[in-house]
Amino acid sequence: MNDSTDKRIALVTGASRGIGAAIAQALAADGRHVVLVARNEEKLNAVKNAIEQAGGSAEVRPCDLSDGAAITALVEEVADTHGRLDILVNNAGITRDGLALRMTDEQFDEVIAVNLRSVFIACRAAARPMMRGKWGRIINVGSVAGLAGNAGQINYAAAKAGVVGLTKTLAKELAGKNITANVVAPGFIETDMTDVLPDAIKDGARQFIPLKRFGQAEEVAAAAAFLAGESTCYITGQTLAVDGGMTMQ
Ligand code: NAP
Repeated sequence: MNDSTDKRIALVTGASRGIGAAIAQALAADGRHVVLVARNEEKLNAVKNAIEQAGGSAEVRPCDLSDGAAITALVEEVADTHGRLDILVNNAGITRDGLALRMTDEQFDEVIAVNLRSVFIACRAAARPMMRGKWGRIINVGSVAGLAGNAGQINYAAAKAGVVGLTKTLAKELAGKNITANVVAPGFIETDMTDVLPDAIKDGARQFIPLKRFGQAEEVAAAAAFLAGESTCYITGQTLAVDGGMTMQ
C-alpha cells in the first residue's frame, strides 16, 4: 500500500451482528480501519475484539440511526478525528412486516427512517470528506425485496427500492469526484433477521433459490469488500444481488 491508501477509514452501520459484522470483519481483513456503528455497545465491542484478535483495527461508535442529527454529527466527528473517511457501508436495517391494508403509518415511517432516511443522511455527510480525499466508496445494502417487491413488506420494499434510486443518483452526482456508489442486494441470508421466520416460509423460500440454500453473512461481505476495493473504481451505480440466483434476469 502507498501513503494514500494506507489505512483507509471505513464506517459500517449495523455492525453489531449479522451482515454488518461480517462486512466490518472483511474490510478489516483488507487492511481498513473500521468504525463500527449500531445501538448495542456490548455487541459492537465483541465485533471490535474479534477484528483485533484477527490482527485488524476497529473502533466502536454507538448511534441510533433513526436520529438524523446524531448520524451527521457522528460522520463528521469520525472524518475530523481521522482526517479522512474513505468507505461508507450503510447496512443497518429493520423489518416491521404486515400486509399493506393493515400496516400502520408508524410501522411504515419507522422502516423508512432506519432503512432509507439514515442512508441519505450518512451519504450526504460522508460525501464531503470523500471529496476532500478525492476517493470514496459508498456501498448501500438493499434487498431483493426492493427489486421484486415482497408481500407483507411494503414499507421495507419501498425503502430498499428507494436505496437503489438514491444510490444511482449519488453515483451520477459524485462520479466526477472519484467516488463510486453501489448497492449490494442480499436474498435470504442466515441472520437474526431471518431466524424469526417460520420454518414453512423458509422451506418455501428455498424452492425459489436456484442454489437451494440461504446465504451466509460472509458471502454478502465478500461482495461489499469487492465493491470497496482499490481496483473496482470503474463500477458505479450498480446493484449486485447476492441471492443464490433468486432474482437473475
Ligand atoms: P440483523 O441481524 O437484524 O442486524 C441489523 C443490524 O442493524 C444490527 O447491527 C442492528 O444493531 C442495526 N440496527 C437496527 N436498527 C438500528 C438503529 N436504529 N440504529 C443503529 N443500528 C441499527 O440484520 P441483517 O440480516 O444482518 O441485515 C443487514 C442488512 O441486510 C439490512 O439492511 C437488511 O435489510 C439487509 N438484508 C438482509 C437480508 C437477510 O436475509 N438477512 C436480506 C436482504 C437484505 P443494533 O440492534 O445493535 O442497533
